[in-house]
Amino acid sequence: MPKPKHCEAVRVVVRCRPFSRREEADSENILHIDDRLGQITLQKPKAPPDEPMKVFTFDSVYGWDSKQGDIYDDAVRPLVDSVLRGFNGTIFAYGQTGTGKTHTMQGVSNDPEMRGVIPNSFQHIFTQISRTQNQKYLVRSSYLEIYQEDIRDLLCKDNNRKLELKENPDFGVYVKDLSSVVTKNAAEIEHVMNIGTRSRSVGFTNMNERSSRSHAIFVVTVECSEVGPDGEDHIRVGKLNMVDLAGSERQSKTGAKGQRLKEAAKINLSLSALGNVISALVDGKSTHVPYRDSKLTRLLQDSLGGNAKTVMIATVGPSHRHFDESLATLRYANRAKNI
Ligand code: ADP
Ligand code: MG
Repeated sequence: MPKPKHCEAVRVVVRCRPFSRREEADSENILHIDDRLGQITLQKPKAPPDEPMKVFTFDSVYGWDSKQGDIYDDAVRPLVDSVLRGFNGTIFAYGQTGTGKTHTMQGVSNDPEMRGVIPNSFQHIFTQISRTQNQKYLVRSSYLEIYQEDIRDLLCKDNNRKLELKENPDFGVYVKDLSSVVTKNAAEIEHVMNIGTRSRSVGFTNMNERSSRSHAIFVVTVECSEVGPDGEDHIRVGKLNMVDLAGSERQSKTGAKGQRLKEAAKINLSLSALGNVISALVDGKSTHVPYRDSKLTRLLQDSLGGNAKTVMIATVGPSHRHFDESLATLRYANRAKNI
């Protein structure tokens, strides 16, 4: 029996992208998906026939022909609905570089069919708001990047400035001086997203390399005020974090040295800290959730655990060439699962 959907605090889904044109010529497919059971089977290339296959079960598994809209409606929409009701939520895309994290989160914004989670959430939020009558909404957004444990504001002209994480007894952990832009409709907030995305690449010689090594976080804060039966204003605030994580590939294999190796250690630090936090949360028995171990987990502390909902979208490619990385991704995602 499949589990009832959307009742868990942490949902873990896997998305497999299609072969690229280059892979099509010289790759074998090692992934088998049973979307009804949420099962994905990984076949080790050239494994002896008696070696058991690696089988994993998740809340949902999406094959190469899955649509952006299906991912949104099935895996993300309930989380954004809960943000509109005043809860916090976080969506992560996790996986090796080139497996579809940015495709899933951002997509192609000028093609309605190809819009990713982030622009679809904008549409969803403003549509819901336009249907309400007695509430007043304020929607703000921020866009930041964590690169080697340094935080940069993607919506600020001086985007090379490193920002500090601060803690305050009233509103918890926050990024000092981070821009926050008020937007009134989906077009405006999408414009904000595009500015930030462009800023990610400015001034860096190899944009792809940088984006594969940094975590990009788009934060939407939805504040709703409503006059209650007592005649007083009641305010509720929900925060939605949408995170395109750094590539999960292990750097040692790529022969990183010196600065590169140091950088790699920091990237892996945030990803392993995140894995530890999520597995402590789903375990439920842990008395200590190690939020403080990385900037990423500190920053997201109020949106992971407690009343907050989390969706992890793990992305994998089908080629036998990436067996090790795909297996590592599925194992990581597996740790985040409710058992
Ligand atoms: P990542 O952000 O994980 O490095 P990308 O999102 O940049 O990976 O995807 C790598 C390439 O694969 C891009 O050309 C992208 O358009 C394509 N791609 C990824 N996922 C899919 C998918 N589900 N369907 C079709 N193309 C995809
Ligand atoms: Mg990317």
